[in-house]
Amino acid sequence: MFGRRMPFRERMAQFLYGRNGPDTIYNVCIWSAFALAILGIFTDSLLMSLAYTLLFGYAIFRFMSRNVTKRRAENRAFCDFFASFKNGFKLGKRKLTDREHVYKKCPHCRAQLRLPRKKGEHDVCCPRCKVTFSVKI
Ligand SMILES: [Zn+2]
Repeated sequence: MFGRRMPFRERMAQFLYGRNGPDTIYNVCIWSAFALAILGIFTDSLLMSLAYTLLFGYAIFRFMSRNVTKRRAENRAFCDFFASFKNGFKLGKRKLTDREHVYKKCPHCRAQLRLPRKKGEHDVCCPRCKVTFSVKI
């Protein structure tokens, strides 16, 4: 009478096959939407509910998307962007605590150089662009 029904887990696996599924952006969107929804309880603002609806919708869109290549590229760009923030923060902290070195930017390629803290004027060769310039410490 009834066709053989697949167990729920199998049907779910078939449904999710080839889809992007959860990734970093998905997690960020879901948690931001959740936080905004909680804030929305107290503020009762239309903008807030619109924001969390959009975030939630975008998260679901990413989860369901079959264009996995594009979603992965977006996710990688997102992660790299925040990693650069994190690394910038680490460098800032190291600059403040490192008493044996000074940090200077190469005037040619803007690369961050760590130089020994020796008083006087020195010629420095940038390891990235190989340009020699003078630095006063
Ligand atoms: Zn350079």
